[in-house]
Amino acid sequence: MKKSISHRLTLAMVTLAVGGIILTALLTNLALDWNFRRYLRSTQEAQNRRIVETLAELYSEATSWLAVTRSTRHVGTTTGTQIRVFDMQNQLIADSLTGMMQSMQGRHWQRAQEQRGNTYSYPLFINEQRIGTVEITHLGQVGLWSGEALFFRRTVNQTMLVTGLGIILIAALAGNILSRRMTRRLENMTEAAEKLGRGDFSARTAVDGEDELAVLGETMNRMASRLEEQTALRKKLTGDISHELRTPLTAIQSFIEAFLDSVMHADEENLQAVLGETHRLAQLVNDLQELSNAECRDRDISLNILNLNSLVALEAERTRPLFRQKGIELVIEDGGQSIECRADELLLGRVLGNLLVNAWKYTPAGGRVTVATFSQDDRAGFTVSDTGEGIEEEHLPYIFERFYRADPSRSRTTGGSGIGLAIVLELVQAMGGAIDVESTPGQGSTFRVTLQV
Ligand code: ADP
Repeated sequence: MKKSISHRLTLAMVTLAVGGIILTALLTNLALDWNFRRYLRSTQEAQNRRIVETLAELYSEATSWLAVTRSTRHVGTTTGTQIRVFDMQNQLIADSLTGMMQSMQGRHWQRAQEQRGNTYSYPLFINEQRIGTVEITHLGQVGLWSGEALFFRRTVNQTMLVTGLGIILIAALAGNILSRRMTRRLENMTEAAEKLGRGDFSARTAVDGEDELAVLGETMNRMASRLEEQTALRKKLTGDISHELRTPLTAIQSFIEAFLDSVMHADEENLQAVLGETHRLAQLVNDLQELSNAECRDRDISLNILNLNSLVALEAERTRPLFRQKGIELVIEDGGQSIECRADELLLGRVLGNLLVNAWKYTPAGGRVTVATFSQDDRAGFTVSDTGEGIEEEHLPYIFERFYRADPSRSRTTGGSGIGLAIVLELVQAMGGAIDVESTPGQGSTFRVTLQV
């Protein structure tokens, strides 16, 4: 493939150069020919006029017919032409080539010249009175290229040939260099693609310039980065999952071993602790299942126009007992106006539910959680604000990542696995929406979900 691209490019450049040169040579020669003929015709015309003037002068001074014939022959010989003079009755009265006319060859030659259009006729005036017609035929290589003109043309053609060869050489060189550069870049890309194919996602191709190959290289590099990120994420996820599973499992195992060794009594309190760990395990498995569902984009999402106010009201009613129990005030602010958005009712319910549970988890008793709906241009959505502990700025960029907890020890007490917000993000994005967060440590957080109308 490499060879064929390089060869084809060089061949194309050379063919183009050869074609261009042939066309230029042809057009130049045609133009030279045409201009030369024009020039020849105009010089002939001028010469003819001078001949007619000289004849008129000589005739006006002539004293005998012999003198007229002699003058005609003289002018004809000196100008390289055959001059024939006719009177008003079209009778031939003088011919500069009388001798030649008598030979057959001469007649043939003259007919040929006449057919070629080299014979010109002019009226002959003496003392402003027309006395007849002069016919002038140019002898020799009339209308053809003269020696000098031929030399000129040859020089032009030779120059063009030399220039042409130079251009072909340059075209071949340029084609070769260009194609080599191109194939080198393609080779780089192929090498990187092969590495990626073998699973080495750190492979990148050099991006040089801004042309289509550079764009392709950039796209490839972006794809490689994405693959690298995904692989790292997958590895991290596997590590995180095993870690998350190990913690409650170890606890359960320790309890059971202690029961068996009679170090601990399997009384209600201890069994409750074991049950708590199994709940943690079950919760984790549920969360993982939900995350997997959320990530599965090809599952059915039915985007419909929803009434946000009713959805918020429904979800608030569902979680209100939780808030009441903990002594947190739950406030709904919908501004009294009905707001609609395009979303999947079930998924959006889960999003709001997760955000409300988080607000409940991270807000102390006596605090307040507010759900407010909004609509802005072609967007609508809701915010969930709390007066809880807030999130340190350094953690904000990561809280939507799987298993990320701003405060692991605290999350453990709240039973969080660090998957809730990852699920929320997946669901919101699956519905074509966006989520962002603002938080002030010690004062509270506001999560904002924006959807299409
Ligand atoms: P978790 O199950 O630990 O709550 P999430 O994915 O829901 O996991 O949240 C990730 C982390 O973001 C939490 O561990 C917590 O540190 C932080 N977080 C989420 N919501 C809030 C909130 N409303 N207030 C303060 N911190 C929050």
